[in-house]
Amino acid sequence: QAKQQGRSQHQFYSPEINAQLQERLVLENELRGALERNEIIVYYQPIIDLYTGQITAVEALVRWQHPTRGLVSPAKFIPIAEANGSIVEIGEWVLRTACLQNRAWQLAGLPPIRMSVNLSARQFEQSNLVELVSQIMQESGLHPSYLELEVTESSLMTDVQRSVNILKQLQELGVWLALDDFGTGYSSLNYLKRFPVNMLKIDRSFVQDVVSNPDSAAVTNAIIALAKSLQLKITAEGIETQQQLNYLQKRGCHEGQGYYFGIPAPANKIRELMQEKEAIAV
Ligand code: C2E
Ligand code: MG
Ligand code: MG
Ligand code: MG
Repeated sequence: QAKQQGRSQHQFYSPEINAQLQERLVLENELRGALERNEIIVYYQPIIDLYTGQITAVEALVRWQHPTRGLVSPAKFIPIAEANGSIVEIGEWVLRTACLQNRAWQLAGLPPIRMSVNLSARQFEQSNLVELVSQIMQESGLHPSYLELEVTESSLMTDVQRSVNILKQLQELGVWLALDDFGTGYSSLNYLKRFPVNMLKIDRSFVQDVVSNPDSAAVTNAIIALAKSLQLKITAEGIETQQQLNYLQKRGCHEGQGYYFGIPAPANKIRELMQEKEAIAV
């Protein structure tokens, strides 16, 4: 019977793909109202100055605390939220929460750090983005120089002229701008020159095997050289080993993020980390 049905209705789908679609639909349904039910939470991952070992920033990374599935990773639900548009609301909430958190740390007397927040393409398309960021700065009392916004090249490419304008306005507010997952997107040097950003984040896929794979090493070296000549700061994501750290340090990469320094964790864990007297050994 299953075979018959398979032939008549699902002949273009393998059972696995069908199951994946089902799962996605279920997740999409469950995601509705997740914000209101307080199931969306933010973890923070430290970003370290590779020369001093000090925490200079944290990246806000969203999680879905699902009532039965446990912690759902953004890789699972961000694409769904992107597709149905709910990322706009979720992203705004993450931005506000992260800014309030950073301000709270400062008010508690912790050394000031940047808060880095991912912006999805859908958020970048919103006509009120600059207003929203400015409003959240006022609301939270966070000085814009302690906020960094991460965008990917691909989200800037739909309308380059508009993107340049938006980035300029954001820079005028005084926030930092980073190109995330750098090296995996279009990477047109011509556009890179036009985008007013402060930072490049080398994608984890290159850092992962930078020590063992000459191609990854070549791309990493090229990105670092490019950043230097454009006077951009550079962060490496996904540092897991001492060897990777040494490699990047030697080549003048400014900052790093990865399991070697710390996994994404709830705010109270990050606070403890920041309160430790000793800098992380680098
Ligand atoms: P991303 O912005 O490139 O963030 C870095 C990702 O790499 C995070 O995954 C982080 O946990 C992971 N990572 C960092 N260091 C290591 C390491 O040493 N080893 C390994 N294996 N992984 C490491 P996460 O938290 O699962 O987030 C995945 C992606 O989801 C993010 O990639 C970002 O694109 C997206 N995302 C996360 N939070 C948000 C958000 O609030 N808004 C939007 N629009 N996207 C978000
Ligand atoms: Mg990011
Ligand atoms: Mg990244
Ligand atoms: Mg990445």
